[in-house]
Amino acid sequence: MKKNILLSTLFMALAMLSACKEDDEVKDTTPPEIGGDAALVNPIDCQVYHPGDVLKVYYVLTDDMELGSYEIEVHDNFQPHTHSAVAVHCPHLSSTATVYPWTFVEAFEIPEGQTRYIIEKQYTIPDDRDLGDYHLEIRVTDRTGWTTEKSIDIKIYAPNTPVDDNDGHDDDHGDNHDSGTQQ
Ligand SMILES: [Zn+2]
Repeated sequence: MKKNILLSTLFMALAMLSACKEDDEVKDTTPPEIGGDAALVNPIDCQVYHPGDVLKVYYVLTDDMELGSYEIEVHDNFQPHTHSAVAVHCPHLSSTATVYPWTFVEAFEIPEGQTRYIIEKQYTIPDDRDLGDYHLEIRVTDRTGWTTEKSIDIKIYAPNTPVDDNDGHDDDHGDNHDSGTQQ
């Protein structure tokens, strides 16, 4: 009997606690999203670049409550691997040994109070790194810790490599998609 009273007191205390909590904060139960107008987003799967090209990263991050931070990462895919977030697989065309791959991770804070944020970054592809298949990854975390990842297959080939990547995009990355909403 004593035990029952103790238990019910405990349950009551817990119920009161969680009631208070619900009053204090609205729960964020939705992970952020990585998207954007298909005509503007870049890079996209299977795009081919060359050393010295400028790799533009343009994606739109959204969250129903508040965005937190994001990361951009490049690493080689010489030993073919996938990420859970990979939706498209390109033909794997190279088997370059990993000697000096292009790789980096950069992290950025998103200003407070944003539910929409546009990533606009440019990276010049170094001309002294291993050629082959690469992944560009974008990871976005919202203010409560939900993380969404997007992994994009890109290729870095020697300047004169003829490539038919059938992606419908021209491979002249000098175009700047100036029909849209770059800000
Ligand atoms: Zn990867």
